[in-house]
Amino acid sequence: MSLKAKIKAGALSLGFADCGFSNVVPAPGIEQYQGWLARGQHAAMAYLADERAVTARSDPRVLLPSCRTVISLITAYPPPSSESPRAKPNELSVTGRIAAFALLPDYHGVIKERLVELAKIINELAGYEVESYACVDSAPILEGGYAQQAGLGWIGRNSLLFHPKHGSWTNLSELLVNLELEPDLPFEEEGCGACQICVLACPTNAIQPDRSIDARRCLSYLTIENRNEIPPEFRRAMGARIFGCDTCQSVCPVNKKAETAALVPAIEESPDLAESFRLTEGEFKQTYRRTPVWRAKYSGFRRNVANAMGNSGRQNFVPILEAALKTESDTIVADSIDWALSKLTGNL
Ligand code: SF4
Ligand code: SF4
Repeated sequence: MSLKAKIKAGALSLGFADCGFSNVVPAPGIEQYQGWLARGQHAAMAYLADERAVTARSDPRVLLPSCRTVISLITAYPPPSSESPRAKPNELSVTGRIAAFALLPDYHGVIKERLVELAKIINELAGYEVESYACVDSAPILEGGYAQQAGLGWIGRNSLLFHPKHGSWTNLSELLVNLELEPDLPFEEEGCGACQICVLACPTNAIQPDRSIDARRCLSYLTIENRNEIPPEFRRAMGARIFGCDTCQSVCPVNKKAETAALVPAIEESPDLAESFRLTEGEFKQTYRRTPVWRAKYSGFRRNVANAMGNSGRQNFVPILEAALKTESDTIVADSIDWALSKLTGNL
């Protein structure tokens, strides 16, 4: 068995669903990425556009100067259990909706541990201390491009990597190593064909013709990373979503056939809205600290929950929201409550 095959076997033994190898440069997809930044489609995520991040995305040797090979790895997670793919923004609901990836313990820690273990396996196989650098999600590297380059799948119209077996219900990560390993062949098949289902299903028209996402319109960005008010034009489209959005993945025919991972969620997929709104900051921390939902912070979570209450059509939320508005000190949450009340009382 070649060293590469042994590394791949080691990765699979650690729970990674697949693994592939590519050259470090040229960084695949860098021109498209720079165009996306130039159009301002990264919204308020200024860290994506800072000089070091852009330089590192052009050449991962900024992260590991001795890097000779990028090892791309995918980890599968279970899809949502029951999302109505074309859920109407005004559907009546007393529960909110949390995106599938966020239902498990925070993947950053879990995947980082696996990458550390993989580095140890590689050291043993090489017989010396190999220099390596672990990248999980937040590291400035073009994950999808490298994964495609390593033969793991294609970039779908909704910008995500689609693995032929696991679809897009995956997290990507990379281990940069200073070993020279033969690159895999890129994934050349165009898996989307003429399909436009996700483009048409996106509730805010966030999917761009060049397979990028305009974060300024994307409900995933707006409910997670966004620290400000939800722009009024997207509040109805949020429907019951209180963290993230699975729509463009749920409607995808490739994903419907995907082999799914069997993992037990750490939190409820559809938490009760009134209960979620009542959570104190301490209770929010206790419930969500170990999951990606923590990323929205207490303020963003309450903003999203209030918005979903407004979209619920439930009149019994009116007194709850009215009482909360009297004491709410967070202006972003107050704005959301105010909008929800207007929506529920027919003043919008
Ligand atoms: S996550 Fe939701 S809002 Fe964002 S592109 Fe996909 S369907 Fe559109
Ligand atoms: S829904 Fe269709 S266009 Fe969108 S990612 Fe899936 S296959 Fe590609």
